[in-house]
Amino acid sequence: MPSILITGAGRGIGLALAQQYCEAGWQVIACHRSRSPALSALGERGVSLHSLDVVDDAQIGELTASLAGKPLDVLFNNAGVYGPDADAFGELDAAGLLATLHVNTVAPLLLAQALLPNLLAGSRKVIATLSSRMGSIADNGSGGHYPYRASKAGLNAALKSLAIDLGPRGFTVLVLHPGWVRTDMGGPHGQLSVDESAAGLRRLVDRASQRDNGKFLDVDGHELPW
Ligand code: NDP
Repeated sequence: MPSILITGAGRGIGLALAQQYCEAGWQVIACHRSRSPALSALGERGVSLHSLDVVDDAQIGELTASLAGKPLDVLFNNAGVYGPDADAFGELDAAGLLATLHVNTVAPLLLAQALLPNLLAGSRKVIATLSSRMGSIADNGSGGHYPYRASKAGLNAALKSLAIDLGPRGFTVLVLHPGWVRTDMGGPHGQLSVDESAAGLRRLVDRASQRDNGKFLDVDGHELPW
């Protein structure tokens, strides 16, 4: 049975991923900062639930200690924040920028580093991370959104290095845009439901091969410009 660890699984796309991988018979480790009733219901169906605020180093340490010696096939970095409402030039502050960078840029990289022994012991060696088309520098034609855009662009740069560094060890590092999805972050007018987005993301993860290592893909598998 393949295994997957998903961050931010309490709601939104992360919850839909946990539900679908559970349905598909995978061993799911669902990490959550807040535990929703829907996630608790998954716990009753055999999904392993772990408290994890991704910016809390001590909690990352507790998670890795609890998983010591256990192989992990897929790390799915889903947790993310849009950042402060005050995100226009002229109203920015260091605290808002740094907090957004911590969750979106720093945490996925540190989690991959912490879970490397587990991933090396797994058979698939996939690190999938939700970035965003808004992190594409080439695609930015409208400006603004400083904390979010900068955090996802920084994430993309870090993951490109990770793909180059871990590729020779058999890894596939995927940088994924989930589409515009109807969640708390995406709002009510998004094009995709969480289930549609999660189904597309699962297809990309499940068919991932080393040829995909270091690619920035949208939910339909099309390559995006960096
Ligand atoms: P939501 O706002 O619906 O959910 C965000 C999830 O991330 C929640 O589970 C939240 O947990 C978790 N999270 C936030 N901060 C932390 C933290 N410090 N530690 C642990 N978990 C945390 O967002 P989406 O489901 O829409 O987004 C998921 C990912 O997809 C994000 O990375 C986002 O940037 C990306 N994305 C989404 C798009 C969309 O249209 N929705 C478009 C492009 C990218 P809690 O419930 O505790 O707050």
